Amino acid sequence: MVQTAEKKQQIGLLGGTFDPVHNGHLAVSNHVRHALGLDSIWFVPAALPPHKAEHGDGQNITSFAHRFAMVERAITVNSSFVVSDIEAKRSSPSYSIDTIKILLPLIGENAELYFIIGADAFVEIDTWKRFKELPSLISFVIISRPGLRPEKIEEAMRNIFTGYEYDPVQDLWISPYYKGSFILLHMEPVAISSTEIRKRVKMGEEVTGLVPAAVEAYIKKHKLYI
Ligand code: ATP
Ligand code: MG
Repeated sequence: MVQTAEKKQQIGLLGGTFDPVHNGHLAVSNHVRHALGLDSIWFVPAALPPHKAEHGDGQNITSFAHRFAMVERAITVNSSFVVSDIEAKRSSPSYSIDTIKILLPLIGENAELYFIIGADAFVEIDTWKRFKELPSLISFVIISRPGLRPEKIEEAMRNIFTGYEYDPVQDLWISPYYKGSFILLHMEPVAISSTEIRKRVKMGEEVTGLVPAAVEAYIKKHKLYI
């Protein structure tokens, strides 16, 4: 973390489909914010997820308006959480590289972005558009996820972003060539996924405790995932 006389605003960015947003997303955001002392976390729902028009389970992706509305309701618990509709403002697919390039000049020199990413998404980051440019723009915070061994993260780190080395003093991965660092944040894995929630709702099961109460009510009211 760069410290200057005037402390930079430190912003965590959590992108995702959020179909629906769940308590795992909130737990991860809380943990990262406290562990790194970030000022705020921006939830950035993807308007048109580039990798999929439907989920792997065959269900269609819910409209942006519903997914956005659920995030809005979920984040009221924490005034440091913000939702952004930046990805709905362009007609092209939601590639993270484009979002970051639009956001950086908007937030200005006095802010730093940390891209928060679950380990499952990180190990596939080499499928993202122009992924090699990302470390020259931002730092990453990688969060463990159930079912994915920590060694897999380090393996992906070495294979995908060559030139990075682990610095035990700062406890992060740095490179002499890139501005951004990679922080592997250890957190008690939270076994919640949107896939599981969609499946449970479809089967008529309750999702209490997996999503905030307001999101549970929203899903029922709008008959989502049935
Ligand atoms: P789906 O099952 O539909 O893929 P998801 O639960 O993975 O949904 P996403 O919206 O795809 O949720 O996730 C957005 C980001 O949050 C990704 O980087 C993902 O890895 C991370 N994430 C989601 N749930 C968790 C969790 N329980 N623990 C750690 N990271 C998570
Ligand atoms: Mg996912």
